[in-house]
Amino acid sequence: MISEQPYWNPVLETMDPEKLQILQLKKFQRIFQWAYDRSKFHRSLYDKAGISPKDIRSLDDIRYVPTVEKSMMRDIQRKDPFPYGDALCVPLDEVVEFHQTSGTTGQPVYQPDTWQDWEWWAECWSYILWSQGYRPKDRVFIPFGYNIFVAFWAGHYGAEKIGCEVIPGGVLDTAARILKMQELKATALMGTPTYILGMAETARNQMGIDPTTLGIDKITCAGECGASIPSTKHRMESAWGAKVYDHAGATEIGAWSYECQAQPGGLHVNDGLFLVEIQDIETGEIITSPGRKGKMLITAFDRLAQPCVRFDAKDVIEWADYACPCGRTYRLIKGGVVGRADDITKVKGVLLAPSAIEEVVRSIRGLGNEYEVIVEKSGDTDKIALKVEIYPDAENNRPEIERELTDQLRLKTNLRYNLQFHSIGTLPRYEVKARRFKDLRAKP
Ligand SMILES: [Zn+2]
Repeated sequence: MISEQPYWNPVLETMDPEKLQILQLKKFQRIFQWAYDRSKFHRSLYDKAGISPKDIRSLDDIRYVPTVEKSMMRDIQRKDPFPYGDALCVPLDEVVEFHQTSGTTGQPVYQPDTWQDWEWWAECWSYILWSQGYRPKDRVFIPFGYNIFVAFWAGHYGAEKIGCEVIPGGVLDTAARILKMQELKATALMGTPTYILGMAETARNQMGIDPTTLGIDKITCAGECGASIPSTKHRMESAWGAKVYDHAGATEIGAWSYECQAQPGGLHVNDGLFLVEIQDIETGEIITSPGRKGKMLITAFDRLAQPCVRFDAKDVIEWADYACPCGRTYRLIKGGVVGRADDITKVKGVLLAPSAIEEVVRSIRGLGNEYEVIVEKSGDTDKIALKVEIYPDAENNRPEIERELTDQLRLKTNLRYNLQFHSIGTLPRYEVKARRFKDLRAKP
């Protein structure tokens, strides 16, 4: 029975790492050649750097290929062939899917896909869902707006591809979604950590429904780091009585990593479909061993309409120094995506990852899920304010909570914070991607 197989693609997912590297080199050469031949944007970037496909003879040579940043994509778009500009590698007629980035960091980037690309997206998601125990018997509820953002669109198609029954929870409000899941006895759910926690709150507080009685046994998260942050994962798992799994993907890249059922404290990189490199943020050196964080550079081997070749995703990751008990040879990144290179700033000379703050806040009993971090400059010194929400019945323990918060934050981030307590429900709520980190210092 196919349902009993542990791996979606047993050949690739358990391939000997040396063989896998040979395959990665071949696949890189192929997509590099494709971009070089067909995209004016990529061709001129590579010509300027004096590099062409014939120069790539080993995986080491790849580090000389120029990286592509989101800002460069913005510059070429909204021109001919409209609206994608000259990174488009196929005739416009072959484009069947339009999506765009959320634009949280500037003007959105438009992303075209051919039908072959779109099937490839569903294939990426099939690895994710299969590794998390989704099988044809599952009825998957997707409480997502089905709009111009890719978000769970591909998750929807991936779930169908592996044989699940999919319920599109489109424009329903949160309460209606919960009732639909209850009525139809959904077994699985997808959402951002912020929304998954918000849904549980609505069910419990406004509808008198205990989410653990709904029969959801697995939840797949995306869009934020939360599902890889132990305290956030724990809050979601206990609220829903379900296993919560993380995955990471992006509009310009595809769904490139996943947490398997073994929950190894990190994500498997889909090494068969992507090449992930980690680059030191300060020196630019490529990091190949565990123990150092850096930003991800990523290549999608098989995406054709608008290729993703050494794309600087600004995700901060780190190689794990352990293997996963699930038997996959796909590499692991420790603790998932720990932040954005833009957000990981030096505060008082210390590198600060917002995920470390989330980990502390959500590990303390009596505090709500929401928080906000604000970094400001006062004279020559940086000041960090941390706003948290406290439950009414925890008010009496406020001095202890404050002490624990201060100690844990100093331990995990080496910094002192100006703590501000707010009552539950007063900090901003986010439906999709949360922006809880605000750096108000003037950028140089
Ligand atoms: Zn695993």
